Amino acid sequence: MSQSIIDAVATSHDISQEQLSVLLHTDDMMLVQTLFAMARQATQRSYGNKVFMRGLIEISNHCRNNCLYCGIRRDQSGLQRYRLTKEQILQCCAAGHQLGFRTFVLQGGEDAWFDDDRLCDIVSDVHAHFPDCAITLSLGERGRSSFQRLFDAGAERYLLRHETASPMHYAQLHPAEMSFDNRMRCLDDLKAIGYQVGCGFMVGSPYQTDASLWADLQFLRRFQPQMVGIGPFIPASGTPFADRPAGSVDLTLRLLSIIRLILPSVLLPATTALGTLSPNGREMGIMAGANVVMPNLSPQGFRAQYSIYDNKLASGSEAAECANDIRSRLNGLDRDASPDRGDFRP
Ligand code: SAM
Repeated sequence: MSQSIIDAVATSHDISQEQLSVLLHTDDMMLVQTLFAMARQATQRSYGNKVFMRGLIEISNHCRNNCLYCGIRRDQSGLQRYRLTKEQILQCCAAGHQLGFRTFVLQGGEDAWFDDDRLCDIVSDVHAHFPDCAITLSLGERGRSSFQRLFDAGAERYLLRHETASPMHYAQLHPAEMSFDNRMRCLDDLKAIGYQVGCGFMVGSPYQTDASLWADLQFLRRFQPQMVGIGPFIPASGTPFADRPAGSVDLTLRLLSIIRLILPSVLLPATTALGTLSPNGREMGIMAGANVVMPNLSPQGFRAQYSIYDNKLASGSEAAECANDIRSRLNGLDRDASPDRGDFRP
């Protein structure tokens, strides 16, 4: 009966709320292992043994937003704020290129200093210096013309987690000045412009329910993103949610597999948050159907300041300079770290 649920999800690329509930809560570990195995097979059919490596460059921890969960929110005190210069960003890219990275992800808080002129200048310089690389941006909400200018300057991909597909849940995670509709507008604009778009959510965020998770999966089905980033919520000291429990690694792995079955060719990272909560989190993510890793390429002196949650990993297999270690750990899972840009394959 339960095995038939997995077959039904894999065939229909859809899931009912009841089916989701069974897959999230079953304590039949054979069934969970079957879910992981089916997800791995789906990944294999779409991308073979390849796992794509992205170099993550955290360009600024200044943020005008006050998301209740985030350790770099505007009201976070005691945090040394930084922003990288264009030269520092280009140096990170050069180091990453040397290490074999062919995608750079420029991520940061919503920092007004990075206006369109400055960002377009950076993007076009990265593009000119590293024409064989893809540029991904993850810089929060912007206007459509800004997204268009950045696209024209050479950015091809944009990561903007939708955070939750339930407007009510969104309002519980964000201050009143932030708008669910604007987040959705941004995602629609990015898609319409032609970006490869990533959305996603935290697993186990405060007030999340099975119903809101199901809404997230239905949103993914409708939106058909090229990338989906999910990772466990991890409390950040000094934030309103500092005392909330962290999300579950097990639930995150099950959701990774379910997303893989719903969107077989999506690019699905095994996120840093997963690696932070469990020493083998990243490997377990790959074994649940993930096919992307995003090691940290930021200058080492700044990594601790990009503290979106407590104890965030930025060393070992989370550190780009350990690319060879990452490759051998992937080989141990019978996966190959791909030297490709790793574009979405519909
Ligand atoms: N400002 C950009 C944005 O809003 O997309 C990018 C940076 S933001 C810090 C990147 C992601 O970090 C968010 O989309 C959120 O899901 C995740 N994040 C923030 N705080 C977190 C926490 N406490 N635990 C886990 N993930 C968190």
